[in-house]
Amino acid sequence: MSADAVVVGSGPNGLVAAVTLARAGRKVLLLEAAERFGGGLRSAELTLPGRVHDLGATVMAMAVASPAFRELALKGVEFAHPPVAVAHPLDGRPAVLVHRDARRTAEGLGRDGRAWLASAGAAAEAGFPLVDLLLQPLGPWHVPLKTFAQAARFGLAGALPATTFARRAFRTVEGRALIAGMAAHSMLDLRAPITAGYGLLLGALAHLVGWPLVRGGSQVLADALVAELRSLGGEAVGGHRVRRLAELDAPIVVLDVTPRQLLAMADLPDGYRRGLERYRYGPGVFKLDWALDGPVPWRDPAVAGAGTVHLGGTLEEIALSEAEMAAGRHSPRPYVLLVQPYAADPTRGGHTLWAYCHVPNGSRADMTDAIETQIERYAPGFRDRVLARHAMGPAELEAANPNLVGGDIGGGLASLGQFVRRPVWSPAPWRTPLPGVFLCSSSTPPGPGAHGMGGRQAARLALKHG
Ligand SMILES: Cc1cc2nc3c(=O)[nH]c(=O)nc-3n(C[C@H](O)[C@H](O)[C@H](O)COP(=O)(O)OP(=O)(O)OC[C@H]3O[C@@H](n4cnc5c(N)ncnc54)[C@H](O)[C@@H]3O)c2cc1C
Repeated sequence: MSADAVVVGSGPNGLVAAVTLARAGRKVLLLEAAERFGGGLRSAELTLPGRVHDLGATVMAMAVASPAFRELALKGVEFAHPPVAVAHPLDGRPAVLVHRDARRTAEGLGRDGRAWLASAGAAAEAGFPLVDLLLQPLGPWHVPLKTFAQAARFGLAGALPATTFARRAFRTVEGRALIAGMAAHSMLDLRAPITAGYGLLLGALAHLVGWPLVRGGSQVLADALVAELRSLGGEAVGGHRVRRLAELDAPIVVLDVTPRQLLAMADLPDGYRRGLERYRYGPGVFKLDWALDGPVPWRDPAVAGAGTVHLGGTLEEIALSEAEMAAGRHSPRPYVLLVQPYAADPTRGGHTLWAYCHVPNGSRADMTDAIETQIERYAPGFRDRVLARHAMGPAELEAANPNLVGGDIGGGLASLGQFVRRPVWSPAPWRTPLPGVFLCSSSTPPGPGAHGMGGRQAARLALKHG
C-alpha cells in the first residue's frame, strides 16, 4: 500500500498516532516488530493455557484520564474497577487503603487524613483540567484560568522529593508509607526532585477515575485501536521490524521508538544526534507472572480487594531500596509493585498475578526469591498457591519489546532533567530534524504510562507540518 503516513511501533502511543492520522483522512500504514500489536498493552498466556497475563501495563488510570483516549472514545473496551484501588500492607498494622472516594481514604489515614485531602485530594478535585495540563506540559492548553493556580499549588508540593514531602506533610507511619509506595512508581531515588509529584498525580487519579483494568486483558484495548485504524482504511502489519528509515516511503513517518533505536535507524544532524546520545535510560525491572490456584492469602483480608498492592513497608524501607537500586545495587528487600487483576476482572482464566521490582539497568540478577519473600512477609503461604510462574528480567523484556532498553519500562529516566529535555530540549520535542519524521514514544512528553499522549501530540504536529 502506498501510504500518506507510516507509523513504526504499535504501543499505545503508536496506536493513538495511527488512529489520529487516519481520522484526519490520512492513509496510514502501521508496522510492528512483534507478531501481536500493542507494545506495552500486549497480553499473552505466559503461564498456563487459558490464563491471560498482561506483558506490560494493566492499571489503566492514565488511559482513562488521558485526553487522547477520552477524545478517541473507543467502543468495545470495558474498564473494570477493583473494590480498592491500592493497598499498602504494613507489618503488625492494618494495611493502608486508597479508595475511589477520597474522604473514605482520608478516614483510614487517621491523623494524616487532612494531609491526604489537601494534596492528592485537592488535585483530584481540580479534575480533568489539571490532568490535561499535567499530561500536556508543553501545551496547547485549553483549560480554565483557575487551573493554573491549582497547578501551581500542585507543583509546589510535587516538585519536592517524596521523602521530603512525606516527612513535612505527613506524620504517621501509614501516611508516609503510602506516599513512598505511590512515588516509587517513578523508578527514581525518592530523594530526587519531582518524585512527590508522580505519587500525588497517581493518588489523585485514584479518586478522579479510579485505577481500573481492561476487562479481558490490556490486549483488548490494543485490538480496539487496531480495529479502529482498519475501519478507517488503515493497514496494520505485524512481524515487521523497521531497521532503517530509508526503507520507508511516505511524507509522514511517526516513530514509536526510543532515542537509541532512532540513532541506529538514520544518519542524524550532529547536534540532534549528540542530544539523543546524552539521553539517559532508567533502571530496569524484574517481572514475575504467576498462575495461582486461589487468591493470595493476605494476612490483612482488606488487601484482597485491591487491584494494586505496594509492598516494601515503611517510607524509610522503600526509600532505602530505591536508593540502592538508583546506586546500581540490588536491594535484598526490594519495593515490589504487585497487581492482582482478579480483584476486578474474573475473565482472565483464574487467579493470575504479576509483580515487579526495580533493578539496575541491564541487570542479570534473578529477583524471584526476593520478590516472593516480600509477598510472603504479608501473605504467609503465598508460595503454596503457585501453580506456575514466568520470569522476565531486563534482557527478556527488551527481547519482547525493543523499547524496553535494559529493562527500562519508562522509555528513559523520568528525572526532572528529562522531564524538560525529553528526549531533547525543544518546544516541540516530537519533531525531529528529519523532514516529516516524528517521535511519539514514552521518550517524549509526558513520558511513561499508557496514556497515548505522545502519539496524539506527534500526530497533530505531523498533520500541521508533515
Ligand atoms: C511490566 C510493565 C508494567 C507496566 N505497567 C503499567 C501500568 O500498569 N499502567 C501504565 O499506565 N503503564 C504501565 N507500563 C508502562 C507502559 O506500558 C508504557 O509506558 C507504554 O506502553 C509506552 O507506550 P509506547 O507506545 O511509548 O511504547 P511501547 O508500548 O513500548 O510500544 C513500542 C512498540 O514499538 C515496537 N517497535 C519498536 N521498535 C520497532 C521497530 N524498529 N520496528 C517495528 N516496531 C518497533 C515494539 O515492538 C512495541 O510494540 C508498564 C510497562 C511494563 C513493561
